[in-house]
Amino acid sequence: MLELSGVCAGYGGFHALNDVSMAVDAGESVAVIGANGAGKTTLLRVISGMLPASAGRLTMNGQDLRALPSHKVLATGIAHVPENRHLFPRLTVEQNLRLGAFLPEARKHFAERLEYVYGLFPRLKERRSQFAGTMSGGEQQLCAIGRALMSKPKIILLDEPSTGLAPVVVQQVFDLVRKIRDDGYTVLIVEQNVTQVLQVVDRAYLLSVGRVETSGRAADLLASEEVQKAYMGL
Ligand code: ATP
Repeated sequence: MLELSGVCAGYGGFHALNDVSMAVDAGESVAVIGANGAGKTTLLRVISGMLPASAGRLTMNGQDLRALPSHKVLATGIAHVPENRHLFPRLTVEQNLRLGAFLPEARKHFAERLEYVYGLFPRLKERRSQFAGTMSGGEQQLCAIGRALMSKPKIILLDEPSTGLAPVVVQQVFDLVRKIRDDGYTVLIVEQNVTQVLQVVDRAYLLSVGRVETSGRAADLLASEEVQKAYMGL
């Protein structure tokens, strides 16, 4: 579904991604793990067209993403939930969700999508008239994920959804990642919380200083001494 081959990107003269190749198949959940500054956020920005790649090939179901202006990327079925969530704090939960369904196809199915999202997150339904900015960090994260799901994306990109959340809420977010994958969504998630994310995804790529160092099935990476030493403090 999503394929990257030899992708490079950076900021000014600085190369944040070097020759990155990876693929995500329909229905899979895949994590990108790596230390601070490894290039994980940059990778998601490049996929969603927020940052142009300087080299390489990026395709979504065969469509060349580099040839598309960034505002057209959403229409290919890519929804990006950035690390800082980007909710509109002075709009209600439901108004924020409505903004996730602004493409004509999603607008047509608004009621059905809203029901799906409220089914996933009953808490959002209870709080649908509350200003998003007054919700807890965990609720805001769920709202941001819910907003992305309103467009019925083919793939959802999650950038460190566990950041800044209490441990019990972090577990809820990871349970949700598993649930949406079980519902048939394709997920690409960037995380620093390596142990927990590897328990809910199918496969992972380990990024180190802008390059893919290794990749494999999540269970194999969890058991790998190299990953345990470097990222789990074992
Ligand atoms: P973290 O886990 O700390 O969020 P990351 O793996 O997501 O890190 P990126 O945010 O992709 O890493 O950053 C990769 C490199 O690019 C870092 O060295 C960072 O300092 C640099 N970088 C990121 N954004 C910018 C920017 N807007 N301008 C210049 N350099 C940047």
